[in-house]
Amino acid sequence: MKTVVSLSGGLDSTVLAAYLLNTGHDVRAVSFTYGQRHARAELAAATAVAEHLSIPHAILSLEGITSQMDPASSQLLVANPAQSVPEGHYAAATMAATVVPGRNLLMIAAAAAYAASHGADAVALAAHAGDHPVYPDCRPPFLMAAGAALALGYDMNLLFPFADRTKTGIVITGAAIKAPMHLTWSCYNGGPQHCGRCGTCVERYEAFRESGFCDPTTYADTTLAQEVTAR
Ligand SMILES: [Zn+2]
Repeated sequence: MKTVVSLSGGLDSTVLAAYLLNTGHDVRAVSFTYGQRHARAELAAATAVAEHLSIPHAILSLEGITSQMDPASSQLLVANPAQSVPEGHYAAATMAATVVPGRNLLMIAAAAAYAASHGADAVALAAHAGDHPVYPDCRPPFLMAAGAALALGYDMNLLFPFADRTKTGIVITGAAIKAPMHLTWSCYNGGPQHCGRCGTCVERYEAFRESGFCDPTTYADTTLAQEVTAR
């Protein structure tokens, strides 16, 4: 199966790309720019992962759309005047501030259009169970409906094999198949190293700790992550 994987450069999509390769897929990767404050680090990670896995990689811009959005609608957008990302656990209600309106739908549509142009049979997303509290468009009912639309319109599959898997489960899978997790980037702040305090840093810290595998990440500060994940 020729499959286009949405590769953010984070843990989940990196493990998914390696998992698809391991299960015989002919994989291409696409990453997205959408005005995210962590674009530089994220896209560098995605590029490094694609090179490591020897898969074609394209960076698609959604900025024509997101640049017209109200910057105040998401703390993730670099244009947001507040310039801050909420700290704490990834599943906390405060993380709703990181939602970019329609982001997953835009990514699915763009990846599907790109896949169709390359004669691919499927688009794969790394949505996982930890996304469900905050991101309605990462939940299985939404993904099944989007998959039905792709099947009807383009005879294309939407794959989301990690939808019921925890982040810890993804780390365990990644370690088993030697996915290049050391090259990945999770931090929403996009500084010189992982901040250790934003929702995705705390989630990453917790997943490695629970998995029992060595965390290859350098964090600027782990005090909050230790405190939150010990609860
Ligand atoms: Zn962070």
